[in-house]
Amino acid sequence: KLPTKYHYFTAQEAKATYKARNDKWAHKGTYGHSLIIGGSYGKIGAPTLSAKAALKIGSGLVTAYIPKCGYTIMQTALPEVMAETDHEIELADFTPTINATVIEIGPGMGTSDLTLAGFKKFLQNNKTPLVVDADALNCLALNKELLTLLPKNSILTPHPKELERLIGKWDNDYEKLEKIKIFVEKYSIILVVKGAYTLTATKEAFYFNSTGNNALATAGSGDVLTGIITGLLAQGYSPREASCFGVYIHGRTAEIYTTNHAPETFTASLIADYLSDVILELQ
Ligand code: AMP
Ligand code: MG
Repeated sequence: KLPTKYHYFTAQEAKATYKARNDKWAHKGTYGHSLIIGGSYGKIGAPTLSAKAALKIGSGLVTAYIPKCGYTIMQTALPEVMAETDHEIELADFTPTINATVIEIGPGMGTSDLTLAGFKKFLQNNKTPLVVDADALNCLALNKELLTLLPKNSILTPHPKELERLIGKWDNDYEKLEKIKIFVEKYSIILVVKGAYTLTATKEAFYFNSTGNNALATAGSGDVLTGIITGLLAQGYSPREASCFGVYIHGRTAEIYTTNHAPETFTASLIADYLSDVILELQ
C-alpha cells in the first residue's frame, strides 16, 4: 500500500530546513567528520568529487579512505582532505582508523570479489551512520542479505539502474512506488531515487524534489550529491533533512548555472562552485 503522505520539497521547505551557521564559539569538530570510502584504479575521481562536496557544504573535517594508487591524486586535488589507504588498486581491507560522524561508501569502489568480501566485513562491524551509493549499492544488489546489516536510517542513493538491481523491474510508476515503499520499510532505510524530481522515500512519507534540470545529467553528478548529503549529516541534519535538503541544493546549483551558461557545459566539478549561491539565497 502506498503512503498517504506526499510532499513537494520547495524553496520554502529548504529555508525551514537550513540551519544558519551562527555559533561564534564553533570549531571544526562542531561540524562533524565525514569519511568517504571508495575508489579503484581509474575511478579515484568519484571519491574525490564526493570528498570535495562534503567539504564545500561545510563538513568540519573530511577523510577519504581509498586504494593506495589514489593517494597522490586525492592529496593533490584536495589538500584539505586527509587520506588513508587500502590495497594498491582496489579496496579490500576496509580498515579506516578515524572516528567519523558519518560514512559515505561506494563511489568508484568497484565490485570485485575482494571488495565485496571486505565490504561485507565492514558492514558486520560498522555502527556509524551510512550514506550508500554507486558500487556499494551494486554490492548490496549482488548479495541482498547484506541489506540487513545496514544501520537504521542509512541513506541509499540509487540512480534508476541501481534501483532496478535493488528492487527488481517494475511495470508502471504505481508498481515502482509500491516496491520502493516496501523496500524502505523492510530495511528501515531512506531511499533517494535519483532522476528528474528525485524522490526521497522514508517510512513516513515521500518527498519529491522541486529543483534541478538536465545539466545534471553528467558524469560524477551523483558522486557530488552523495558528498553533499554526507556533509549535511556530519553537521547534524537528520537523515531525512540531509536527503531532501541535499537533493534540493544539488538541483538548485544547476538552475543557477543555466541562467547564464549552456547546460551542456555543466560538469560535476562545477557543482561545488555554486553551493555558496544556493546557501545565500536561503538566508
Ligand atoms: P548519477 O547517475 O549517480 O551520476 O546521478 C545523477 C544525478 O543527476 C542525480 O542526482 C540525478 O537526480 C541528477 N539528474 C540527472 N538527470 C537529471 C535531469 N534530467 N533532471 C534533474 N536531475 C537530473
Ligand atoms: Mg552514481
